[in-house]
Amino acid sequence: MKIGVPIEIKNNENRVGMTPSGVFELTKRDHEVFVQKNAGFNSGFLDEDYIEVGATILDTIEAVYAVAEMIVKVKEPIEPEYKLIQPNQVVFTYFHFASSEALTNAMIESKSICIAYETVEDADGTLPLLIPMSEVAGRMSIQQGAKYLEKPIKGRGILLGGVPGVPPAKVLILGAGIVGYQAAKMAAGLGAHVVIMDINMKALRYVSDSMPNNVISEFSSEYNIRKHIQDADLIVGGVLIKGAKAPKLITRDMLKEMQPGTVMVDVAVDQGGCFETTKPTTHQDPTYIIDEVVHYTVANMPGAVPYTSTMALTNVTLPYVLKLANQGWEAACENNAPLAKGLNIVKGEIVYKEIAEAFDMEM
Ligand code: NAD
Repeated sequence: MKIGVPIEIKNNENRVGMTPSGVFELTKRDHEVFVQKNAGFNSGFLDEDYIEVGATILDTIEAVYAVAEMIVKVKEPIEPEYKLIQPNQVVFTYFHFASSEALTNAMIESKSICIAYETVEDADGTLPLLIPMSEVAGRMSIQQGAKYLEKPIKGRGILLGGVPGVPPAKVLILGAGIVGYQAAKMAAGLGAHVVIMDINMKALRYVSDSMPNNVISEFSSEYNIRKHIQDADLIVGGVLIKGAKAPKLITRDMLKEMQPGTVMVDVAVDQGGCFETTKPTTHQDPTYIIDEVVHYTVANMPGAVPYTSTMALTNVTLPYVLKLANQGWEAACENNAPLAKGLNIVKGEIVYKEIAEAFDMEM
């Protein structure tokens, strides 16, 4: 199969869809890989590294899309890429369709085969291609939150861990899945007082059994959230309802109940956000302030740490890329139930229930 690896053109997205090590696994099975010039540069991979393992370097994004039977990338296509995608081309990437009707319509029109990383699903309901990026974003949410809590960038001016004789900051984490758990782990490590909430008792039990004493688990309800936001310094949103928009757990009116300079990091922004006041931002201009509450809502957080993220992502995508390349998409999906769950739009038809429901469209 001919596989294309384009440069990511979304603002400050520095990851790349395949590492030279992944390309090597394809070329040794006689597949052809076409990598756009400098595609791996920001993740620490040079064109020469790809050439060494048998890839062909192409100068333009147009050339990559024109030659490839399958595109392997990282982020959802953005407007300039819509017209490059061809009928019957397999596009294997993150899509997050539920948060963009424009993207959904464009991919329907493209008649391509859209296999979304975020809906590939194991038998036990876990999402193997979301996990590593959630791990990165969860850990990063505390790093970013700590930074924006500093006074010169309009935060409360509080150190997460406090110092001897001064209490630490309070961190409230909504969702005890991958993002929330990793965020709690980082915040706890820095010495903060952490409250983590979920509606899933299994997740709360795991937190309670495995976290240090400065992490408290509590059931997620509007009542409990209203109670904790009043003295929280940093709030991290990491909830997910698979394939659907995130529930708005912090509404606009709740901002008035918070301390001035509170920082809210909405990691769930790519599913519409779990704060009513969330709107997506970029790494170039990551924050905005409403009612003296700092919002950090970057939709591609892992893009800022491409060295870590590219390797973490391609570790988990490669086995599926190999199946798709070796067997073709139809046989690969027939033979592999988790991969079949990744099919979102096939040749103009939505085939994933929650996406059709999000926009009241036909399946
Ligand atoms: P996950 O499925 O592991 O965890 C989500 C958790 O939210 C689950 O435990 C679920 O029970 C819980 N939840 C659902 N409704 C809730 C409610 N009302 N109150 C409290 N908890 C609730 O998902 P994840 O991998 O941790 O991902 C979380 C979100 O982060 C997703 O939207 C994902 O797309 C997003 N994400 C964003 C970035 C970014 O760069 N911004 C990066 C990675 C992941």
